[in-house]
Amino acid sequence: MHKTDLSLEGRVALVTGATRGIGAAISQRLAANGACVVGTATTESGAQNIGQNLAGAPMPGVGQVLDVTNPTSVDNLFKEIKAAVGLPSIVVNNAAVTRDGLALRMPEADWAAVIEANLSGVYRVSKSALRGLMKSGQGRIVNISSVVGQSGNPGQINYSAAKAGVLGLTRSLARELGSRQVTVNAVAPGFIDTDMTRALDDGARDRMLEQIPLGRLGAAEEVADAVAFLVSPAAGYITGETLSINGGLHMGG
Ligand code: NAP
Repeated sequence: MHKTDLSLEGRVALVTGATRGIGAAISQRLAANGACVVGTATTESGAQNIGQNLAGAPMPGVGQVLDVTNPTSVDNLFKEIKAAVGLPSIVVNNAAVTRDGLALRMPEADWAAVIEANLSGVYRVSKSALRGLMKSGQGRIVNISSVVGQSGNPGQINYSAAKAGVLGLTRSLARELGSRQVTVNAVAPGFIDTDMTRALDDGARDRMLEQIPLGRLGAAEEVADAVAFLVSPAAGYITGETLSINGGLHMGG
């Protein structure tokens, strides 16, 4: 009888933005499935916490400092990973920021900061990972986009543009890397219960819940489950795809 193969034994997985929320849940899940996880934080103390949380995993993971907006920081990260645990065959581009505001009043700096972290950051980390991914013969990239990259959202032209850009990047990269057996997919979470959505006021939260057929926010662990599937051997024939995890908030791609 054939059993679904979700095992990540012998794999090194890089998860950016792993200090909290969705990134922390993804790190824990991939570690539980057998990967040696490298989780990143923007601070030294954050990296240490990640290392402590991953120490008890079947393959103990490590925490590293990374600022995806800084090319030198990305270069240093890959040098350190290579020396510590070997180059990753799984990359989850999760790190992101928000600088919300209506278009009429959005400062150039808020536009640029979000594009730089949420879109250029994905380019930078993915590019640095490519050689290792291609060499592995079973490489996986999963990019964390968002429902607002699919449907748009007032007050988020910068964030939704970056997240829509990530979907285009995902499909192009999937076409470039297919012949090397590297799959590149995206997940598009809806409203997930994390620091990012806790920042919303009660009125905005209630209006949002009314739009969700399943009538609740998602849990970070539910996004982690989808990512764990996409990076697993079981998802070997899925590439260039966007998996929505949104309780039905937005349907049809
Ligand atoms: P979060 O709680 O705000 O955590 C963001 C993570 O990104 C943190 O680990 C943070 O590190 C890291 N980060 C921020 N700027 C960075 C930079 N310049 N370089 C490297 N790392 C950086 O976010 P979340 O809610 O878990 O969201 C995770 C992902 O899911 C994001 O891509 C987000 O856009 C997406 N998403 C979230 C929701 C939602 O409802 N929460 C919905 C759709 C999509 P530090 O802690 O060190 O600052």
